[in-house]
Amino acid sequence: AEDILLRSEKLSIIGELAAGVAHEIRNPLTTLKGFMQLYKRADSSIDELLLSELDRIENITSQLLTLGKPQAMELKRTNVLELIEGTLVLLAPEAMMSNIQFNLKFEESSYFIICEKNQLKQVFLNILKNAMEAMKEGGEIQINLRKGPEDECVIAFQDQGCGIPEELLPRLGEPFYTLKEKGTGLGLMISHKIIKQHNGSLTFNSNGKEGTMVEIKLPSAS
Ligand code: ADP
Ligand code: MG
Repeated sequence: AEDILLRSEKLSIIGELAAGVAHEIRNPLTTLKGFMQLYKRADSSIDELLLSELDRIENITSQLLTLGKPQAMELKRTNVLELIEGTLVLLAPEAMMSNIQFNLKFEESSYFIICEKNQLKQVFLNILKNAMEAMKEGGEIQINLRKGPEDECVIAFQDQGCGIPEELLPRLGEPFYTLKEKGTGLGLMISHKIIKQHNGSLTFNSNGKEGTMVEIKLPSAS
């Protein structure tokens, strides 16, 4: 396996570079989008297409921006359960359209951790979106909250999607590694970085056929 330190050093250099580029792309992009919206014709499908492609660029740049200099983290004691519920609300419309149900299970009513809420929410979003994108036929995504043996907070996401071949598991989180035609290959890289900043771990399990299980462990703040 590649040396972990070397890997994280490489990632942070790439991250800073990418964030710098993303920042430069943002301003002209905002101008373009503004003009597009201003001059949008009543029912032009080309305008729709152009706007949705601009949205895509905007998405990519905003993902990249989170890689930049470690922003001042506002760490707060937070109930992960509430954070997850808040994330599921955001995804509900998309899930309904894709015939996907979320099944959230927990033993306790609160799981407190110290975290930067927005960053952690982004991780949950990235992971749940991947799960949804892997479930072309719809189905159920189980989200399980529990306490680990050392009182850590464990969040497990189990989907019924296409799975990830075992030999590809080590490559997840590599910048721009994607198997999707329209993927960015940035979601997991960013998620790894955020979880690491929170002294947690992020692991993937799949037999490559049916379903993927993503597990996040974070130190509890009791
Ligand atoms: P993107 O979603 O833009 O492709 P990510 O970094 O989020 O980039 O994910 C990288 C790759 O990992 C995906 O392209 C996909 O092949 C694989 N992957 C991640 N999560 C899952 C999942 N739940 N089921 C199947 N494949 C997954
Ligand atoms: Mg993704």
